Amino acid sequence: MYDAIVVGARCAGAPTAMLLARAGHRVLLVDRAEFPSDTLSTHAIHAPGIAALRRWGLLDAVLATGCPPIDVYSFDFGLFTLRGTPRPCDGSSAAYAPRRYLLDAILVEAAAAAGAEVREHFSVSDLVVEDGAVVGVRGHDETGAAVTERARVVVGADGRNSRVALLAGAQAYAEKPRQQYAYYTYWQDLPVDTFATYIRPDRGWGAFRTNDDLTLLVLGWPYAEAAAYKADVEGNYLATLELAPEFAERVRSATRVAPFLGGAVPNFLRTPFGPGWVLVGDAGLTMDPITAQGMTDAFFDAERCAAALDRVFRGETPFEQAMAAVQQERDVRVRPMWEFTSDMAALAPPPPELAGLLFAAQGDQAAMDGFASVIAGTLGPAEFFAGAATPA
Ligand SMILES: Cc1cc2nc3c(=O)[nH]c(=O)nc-3n(C[C@H](O)[C@H](O)[C@H](O)COP(=O)(O)OP(=O)(O)OC[C@H]3O[C@@H](n4cnc5c(N)ncnc54)[C@H](O)[C@@H]3O)c2cc1C
Repeated sequence: MYDAIVVGARCAGAPTAMLLARAGHRVLLVDRAEFPSDTLSTHAIHAPGIAALRRWGLLDAVLATGCPPIDVYSFDFGLFTLRGTPRPCDGSSAAYAPRRYLLDAILVEAAAAAGAEVREHFSVSDLVVEDGAVVGVRGHDETGAAVTERARVVVGADGRNSRVALLAGAQAYAEKPRQQYAYYTYWQDLPVDTFATYIRPDRGWGAFRTNDDLTLLVLGWPYAEAAAYKADVEGNYLATLELAPEFAERVRSATRVAPFLGGAVPNFLRTPFGPGWVLVGDAGLTMDPITAQGMTDAFFDAERCAAALDRVFRGETPFEQAMAAVQQERDVRVRPMWEFTSDMAALAPPPPELAGLLFAAQGDQAAMDGFASVIAGTLGPAEFFAGAATPA
């Protein structure tokens, strides 16, 4: 009998398990994957996510992998470029983009070091339900043997296609369909000195430095054109870059060192708890990756849920009350960015008012820093647009 079984051991699950174990609770952390392993995701982490790693004492280990800081964000709209430094979070503005196979392994090791029992190759297939409440999981270990484990709470940290959410009947209450289809790959000899975003009508791409002196370059088309994009991934990816000829020339001189990986995600918020179960990370909240919020959101969720469950396990707060507060805090914090992100992901030309605001921001360093801060998650979209619309 555990206090918590956490299903899924990446950005949401491993920190949840780590923080609960550090608080002295009995935690089982399971994943059908083994670590280190990669997952379908680019991996820019803005300053608030980096601040979480620092709070947890894990930032040094992440930086020791050799991923460089990203201090400046740039947004090339074709006619003009905004270049700014985000407002800091806990004293630092820098983003980093550690490869997932490195980062996720650090997170899993930290959970184990904190005392969580980690089981890889463990696939959860069902929930154990008694008297209407979830009391455990059923699954299979690496030998294929059926295993049942019981806990006071089951935490679904199993990603956007969460089986825990499905089995528990978690309801989505805000939904938008897939907006863009993106492919990414890694390039050698493609130096970029910013979190570099290029916005063109119906197309968009971003590039940033990662481990091993490589640059990740991700390029999206509207989801409605996904079939055409997929028909010739490399040709379409390279042809689209010609919308910024100088950048395309630099890519032509670089060397691609990995296959193209592609995907699209829906946008939703789900009710993140019910009797005996909790959802963290993408399982409870998914948004298009265009603004790179998912990992930071997963860290926030992990921290808030672990703190709430700690109070529940200590008998200080009833489960329902603790988790309702977590949900409310999550939604207040994330909803404006969720709306902004899903709008951006449509890759449609900005409405005239927004286009005018962005055009007016060029050369105004405070405004450009403000827009960078919106993407970094250190300034709310509404705050930025209200301020930008107010004459100085
Ligand atoms: C193309 C793309 C690009 C992205 N780029 C960025 C970016 O630049 N920055 C950013 O912050 N976010 C980005 N994201 C989002 C980010 O990947 C997610 O928000 C983040 O991975 C969520 O973490 P998680 O732990 O909730 O889920 P996941 O990372 O999906 O992990 C879920 C884990 O659960 C395990 N699991 C699932 N089902 C079971 C089961 N039944 N039994 C046992 N284990 C199970 C899986 O094996 C997996 O390890 C991107 C996403 C995509 C698709």
